[in-house]
Amino acid sequence: MPQESSAAQPSGTQLDSWLGSYAERTAGMRTSEIRALFSVASRPEVVSLAGGMPNLDALPLNVVAELNRDLVLESGDTALQYCSGQGIVKLREQILDVMRLEGIEAHPDDVVVTTGSQQAIDLVTRVFINPGDVIIAEGPSYVGALGVFSQYQAEVVHIQMDADGIVPELLEEKLENLKQAGKPVKLLYTVPNFHNPAGVTLSLERRPRILEIAKRYGVLVLEDNPYGLLGFDQEPMPALRSMDEDGVVYLGSFSKTFAPGYRVGWAVAPHAVREKLVIASEATILSPSAYSQMAVSSYLENADWKAQIQSFRNMYQGRRDAMIQALSDRLPQLSWNVPNGGFYVWVTLPEGLDSKAMLPRAVTQRVAYVPGTGFYSDDNGHRNMRLSFCYPTPERIAEGIRRLSNVISGEMDLIEIFGSSSSPASRTRGVQSPTPDLF
Ligand code: PMP
Repeated sequence: MPQESSAAQPSGTQLDSWLGSYAERTAGMRTSEIRALFSVASRPEVVSLAGGMPNLDALPLNVVAELNRDLVLESGDTALQYCSGQGIVKLREQILDVMRLEGIEAHPDDVVVTTGSQQAIDLVTRVFINPGDVIIAEGPSYVGALGVFSQYQAEVVHIQMDADGIVPELLEEKLENLKQAGKPVKLLYTVPNFHNPAGVTLSLERRPRILEIAKRYGVLVLEDNPYGLLGFDQEPMPALRSMDEDGVVYLGSFSKTFAPGYRVGWAVAPHAVREKLVIASEATILSPSAYSQMAVSSYLENADWKAQIQSFRNMYQGRRDAMIQALSDRLPQLSWNVPNGGFYVWVTLPEGLDSKAMLPRAVTQRVAYVPGTGFYSDDNGHRNMRLSFCYPTPERIAEGIRRLSNVISGEMDLIEIFGSSSSPASRTRGVQSPTPDLF
């Protein structure tokens, strides 16, 4: 008998014998149709402006190899063992040094080490969100967080940004409307620095205002900050957590400032929240990798990690410049922001173009990007695309933009003849997970 429930039904195909058994939360687990395209996009002949992978060419691999060798030979018995669910104390102390660069004063007990900050997003969502609870997130927002929110059946309400990040007046208006509608808002999820995908940074002046509004409406701020130390010609901004200890859960990561392969990130949370995060983490992974934590710890102790971050900043700045130059030379009909750090440029296409519908044509012309629709939980983003400048060399970036300009000229010609380029198939709602290397 068909079920009469109005709850979201698990997605799948009739060929799957377990289709009737899945939990309702799997309704949010859909494979993206662009996943298949991206397996083509990762071929060497394609210039991928899609991936958010850090460029590890700038890392001294011989130094890292030596540290790893010493770690196994000298401390293998602890490094290869289970460890505390909260993470090893020495690394938690070193994490405090990293966060001090953004004005955060905390105690090692406040820190929970996680398997990348991605796991921390999952833990915070698990601890706070019931199905139907509202999470406010910037529009656009980080695709990996939207995937988590969808799996916990949260309702994501996007808040628009301008060049200075979230607009406080809009946030207040949205919270008031949701309150009037009787909808419980649990979290404000924000990437305040060099936003993924929008590239913008929340201004210093707005930071205390956002915190004050969130506090007034009883909303916990989830500050996700993997890019804060990767500014180009600006020093790190004070973190939201540096201005409010009780109202913020802060997430950090070594993925972009060292190497994502170790999968070491962390959360800093008020005491009671932190206890729940540790219990939730133990239930999932028992303990984060002792080996990875000790390797990162040894790197922080023995290598000049601040100089390394400076060399990453210089490299990414050069690539940002190459991308902006190429866009200005080849695609003046588009608009984009000029990010002052991080990995991403957010592009707006001329009226009538649809980035998702255009992607197969782009991949055929050997260039890839992520369509804007991936960064919204509603039907927005069709006229946007995220271009990453982190991974390809400046020469490849210029070539990628040249190819993209050919694709866009072709689309414009089509529009002139037939009208809008968007196809009905490209207008699907909801979060669809692209492949992890695009995050
Ligand atoms: N948050 C944001 C905004 C990101 O861009 C990423 C990675 N692209 C993550 C979290 C997850 O990073 P990790 O799990 O590697 O720490």
